[in-house]
Amino acid sequence: MGTTKRVAAMKYDEIILPVHPDHVLKLKTKAKPYTCNGCYEYGLHTRYTCNEPSCNFHLHKACALGSIHEPTITHAFYPNRTFLFLASPENAGQICNACAREIKGCNYHCFDEDLYLHPSCAKLPFTRDEGDVKLALKYKVSSKCYKCKKKKYKDEKRSWSYACEDCHLHVACVKDMLIEDWERGYLGHGGGSGKGKAKVKDEMALVATEMPKLQIVIDKGKKKWSSKLAKIVKYMKIIIASIIGAVTGDPTALVLSLISSTSSG
Ligand SMILES: [Zn+2]
Ligand SMILES: [Zn+2]
Ligand SMILES: [Zn+2]
Ligand SMILES: [Zn+2]
Repeated sequence: MGTTKRVAAMKYDEIILPVHPDHVLKLKTKAKPYTCNGCYEYGLHTRYTCNEPSCNFHLHKACALGSIHEPTITHAFYPNRTFLFLASPENAGQICNACAREIKGCNYHCFDEDLYLHPSCAKLPFTRDEGDVKLALKYKVSSKCYKCKKKKYKDEKRSWSYACEDCHLHVACVKDMLIEDWERGYLGHGGGSGKGKAKVKDEMALVATEMPKLQIVIDKGKKKWSSKLAKIVKYMKIIIASIIGAVTGDPTALVLSLISSTSSG
């Protein structure tokens, strides 16, 4: 019993994995965003990284440790089902049941119901307590998403949602926001993020310059500005930061600094 406890509590700061057998991977926290070489989704901050710069090899924690620690998992949204960790999807074009994005690499797969989950999505917390705002992860929602204005995400694609008392957002919609912004700014397809790099003093400032700021656009034409709306905007920022934090393994406080709100019309 004592041994089991010790193993569970061990910190895996350095690991060697079959997917990258020649070099040690170290657990690191860096400001620069990365693409995970396991699931091919984006990541922020904490990651397992190869020390050889020429490798440019990074893994989400969930993707690195999944094969070793949790080759099979269960999920509360799918009672009596077991998911197996796979290095790649069974067939091309499979969609994650949590975030509606394509499964391009490692994943958790349920053969009985042909379900797929990104390892990070499988680990999304069911609740998050952000002080004022209590969030719950929902399989289905009965109201419309604040971003896409739909209950279902797109056509046949479903997405889980994070909901507070007043509103909810699809996990898929928040990932879209992050990725659109990222590709526009950080990855250099227009926009820019290089300003003020010389002035960077601490981790928080570095994050702010490395990552473009996400903006919540409030349509002033449709809704009267009110204290209710101000509250929703505040909640939105926390929800978005929480989802990004959850899918990227990043502390919410750091992500929250990336999000600003603006109004249109
Ligand atoms: Zn990954
Ligand atoms: Zn390497
Ligand atoms: Zn996913
Ligand atoms: Zn949505």
